[in-house]
This record gives sequence, C-alpha cells and structure tokens, in this order.
Amino acid sequence: MLLNVQKIEKSFEKNTPVVKGVSFSVQENEIFALLGPSGCGKTTTLRMISGFERVDSGSVELAGETLSSGKTHIAPQKRGIGFVFQDYALFPHMTALDNVAFGLTSLPRYKRSVFAEEVLCRTGMGDHKDKSPAELSGGQQQRVALARAIAPEPKLVLLDEPFSNLDAMLRDSTRKEVRAILKKAGMSAVLVTHDQEEALSFADRIAVMNDGKIEQIGTPEEVYYQPKTRFVAQFLGRTNLFEAVVNDEGCIHTNLGCLRLNCKASGQVTCSIRPEHLTIERPNGALNGCSKGIIIGREFKGHDITYHVECNGERYIVHTDNRVLFEPDDEVVVKPLEPAVVLENA
Ligand code: ATP
Repeated sequence: MLLNVQKIEKSFEKNTPVVKGVSFSVQENEIFALLGPSGCGKTTTLRMISGFERVDSGSVELAGETLSSGKTHIAPQKRGIGFVFQDYALFPHMTALDNVAFGLTSLPRYKRSVFAEEVLCRTGMGDHKDKSPAELSGGQQQRVALARAIAPEPKLVLLDEPFSNLDAMLRDSTRKEVRAILKKAGMSAVLVTHDQEEALSFADRIAVMNDGKIEQIGTPEEVYYQPKTRFVAQFLGRTNLFEAVVNDEGCIHTNLGCLRLNCKASGQVTCSIRPEHLTIERPNGALNGCSKGIIIGREFKGHDITYHVECNGERYIVHTDNRVLFEPDDEVVVKPLEPAVVLENA
C-alpha cells in the first residue's frame, strides 16, 4: 500500500466537521478518485493529504511514513507529493521549460533544463518548451502543469478538478492523455472531481463522498452497477428505484413484474436498476405479471435512446440502443435484463 488515510477529520468552525472520519488506501501505480457533490469535503480531504491543511484527528501515511497525525505535520514541500490544480497555477512570466525545471531542486542546475525538456517531451509538450503559459491552450497548459508535477518523480500526484477548465472535447482527450502518462510513469494519483463520467473513465477505483463521509469505495463498475446506497445509485447516473417487500422466492413484486435481486434479502428493501438494465417491448401475448406502460418521453442521443415510461402511475427510465424505436403514447411493457441491486441504509 502506498497511501494510507485513516479516519481523518476536519472542522473549520467548532463542532461543524466537514470531513468526518474518512479512510481509504491507494496502491502503487493506482489512480484513485474522490467523487462527490460540491461541498462534500473532497478538496479538504486532498488538502489534508497534501499538508496544506492539518488534520484534527486521524492519520495520513505515505510509503510507511506518517505525514499527518494528531502529533505530526510534515510540510507540503517535504512530502514527496506532486500537485496539479484546477487553474494549473503555472508561473506566467516563465516558459514551459522553466516552469517544469523550477521544482527540480534536487538536481544540479545544469541538469535541470535537460531533464525538464525530457519530461515535457513525455507529456507531448517538447515542441512548446519555449512558450509562456499565455501562448498555450488550456489543454497544453494542463500538460505542462502535469509535467511540472511529475518531473521531481513524486511518490504520489494529487489532481484537484484538473480538467474542469477545459471544453468538453479537450477535456476528454486530455483526460485520456494524462491517464496514459501517469500509467506509463508508474505513478499513483488521487483525483478530486464532482464529475461522475470523469471519475468512471479516469480512475482505477473511486470513493464516493457525501456530506464529509465516504459512502462506497470500489472499481468504476462496482460503484456504478452495484451501488450500496441510494446516494451512490443516484449520484453516479440515472437509476430506477423500487421499494417493496421480499417474497418467499427472494424476489420483489413491482409494476414490472417479479424482479430478481442481486443478493439474499428479506423484509422491506429499496432496490436500484440502471436504465440500461431495462428494456421495452410491444405488449404481445401474456404479460406475466407486468403492467402495460405508456411512453411519455423520448430522448434520442444518436448512439442510444432514453425512454420515459409511465406504468400504473410510476415512472421508469429505460436506455435502449438506437434500433429500439417507439413513439410517445405507444403502449409497451418494461422488462428487466438484470437483477435489482439491493441498497443498504436506503
Ligand atoms: P467543491 O467541489 O465545491 O470544491 P468540495 O467537496 O471540494 O467542494 P470542500 O472544498 O472540501 O468541498 O469544502 C467542504 C466544506 O468546508 C464546505 O462547506 C466549505 O465551505 C468548507 N470549507 C472549506 N475550506 C474552508 C476554510 N478554509 N474555511 C472555512 N470553511 C471551509
């Protein structure tokens, strides 16, 4: 394990904690994301790892060394951690090369430029080494910022909403490039983001945060397809929620018929099914306990279509591929393709 964060807490005002006992670990060469809505405490958590903020309690260890605890606080510049900020924070009066060379204080002066140029080449910015930040696009500045962060070969890189100032197209490609650069360099990283798609596509594992706490940690597939809580199910994308009592066969009876569950459960449960785990058909033949529904809305998105279906006064969202064609007011039945996921503490 490279980074070990144990039960860290932080209050800025007395008795109003904004980070409430957060624990997680990051492995060597792992990209980890802290994902959550604005104000949930992600940046404060990152700032406690970086040392820009002290912990009230709990501990932060990097490669076995305690960086923060009730008694210890190592200064940010002595932690062996690189940072990439939302606004890149490049020195405006310096060239890209000088920005990267600036932090290479452990190297003799004559070697700094050579090494800085090498790292700029690795991030695809070698040809722009003599330009100032004002002469670079947002995506290029971000790659210089990354080069600056990784050049001193830190054990860990922290990225705070690093792609949010880029437009949609550039964000996508920069994200892919940055991930590839980190993986090639064999570096571990912690990304803070409120963007679900970004966390799902960029990280190896994700911690979903809500109100100062982590609700779930898992791979992108786990947190998306096996959410543990109502918050995680709803924050990671659209979903259909069902509240029902588990019957003797271990299923729940709903408007969509009897739904199988992803695990053993009993009593009253709340379950989630992602829209792409439902499909719609024309109501031919026996309905087998399903209710007929009516298409009340349709969002055509090119490669797929989202349908809104009303069934016995309940609304469901169904994603289908673009060959499943229905019109508003068409009569349909909604069928599950996968078991419903039982949520904890819902
Ligand atoms: P965002 O995505 O909007 O940056 P976040 O999840 O990163 O949100 P934080 O920036 O960690 O959230 O803030 C969590 C809470 O702590 C917020 O209510 C914020 O107002 C408060 N907070 C953060 N820094 C300070 C500070 N230096 N002094 C007082 N309150 C602070």
